[in-house]
Amino acid sequence: MNKEALKLLISPSDIASKVSELAKQILNDHGEEELILIGTLKGSFIFLADLVRALDKKDVFIDFVRVKSYGYSDTSSEEIVITKDIELPLEGKTVILVEDIVDTGLTVKFLLEHLKLHKPKIVKVCALIDKRERRKVDVPIEYVGFVVEKGFLVGYGLDYAEKYRHLPGVYEVIKS
Ligand code: 5GP
Repeated sequence: MNKEALKLLISPSDIASKVSELAKQILNDHGEEELILIGTLKGSFIFLADLVRALDKKDVFIDFVRVKSYGYSDTSSEEIVITKDIELPLEGKTVILVEDIVDTGLTVKFLLEHLKLHKPKIVKVCALIDKRERRKVDVPIEYVGFVVEKGFLVGYGLDYAEKYRHLPGVYEVIKS
């Protein structure tokens, strides 16, 4: 059986400083407006929880969306379906989609198209990790935490077969 080892990539204190930096950028751009933060489940739950507390803003609202993707290796295409939709009305609102990690970009592209159907004033993306190597589609990420070239990452909400979400840092999975 394959065993995995974990290598620390981003420490909890580096995450904490980055989260405050991101919150400052968001407040700078949208401090005067009502904000709706939409977290993608399950991976962004810890990031969203920290970000929203760093924002320390009265008129901030939280919602979640969950998607499932089916990859087809023979066609290298992907089908994405929503398994939990947003519940707050978004019309005319400033919305920030909070993502754990952007990899191919397909999920963010799909979600941006979906959110735009709800006629928000503006939708921006805030991602803790922008993982570049496998990007298939260009997506705008206005607020980026860390840029990573490649690797499968876990911790701080990210899982490997539902394990490791609770870890306070981000680790790379090394398979042996
Ligand atoms: P994308 O559609 O950009 O390829 O993938 C986005 C989703 O794939 C992320 O929200 C996450 O659920 C999953 N994902 C992509 N890369 C990683 C990774 O390195 N680690 C984990 N745990 N999930 C990943």
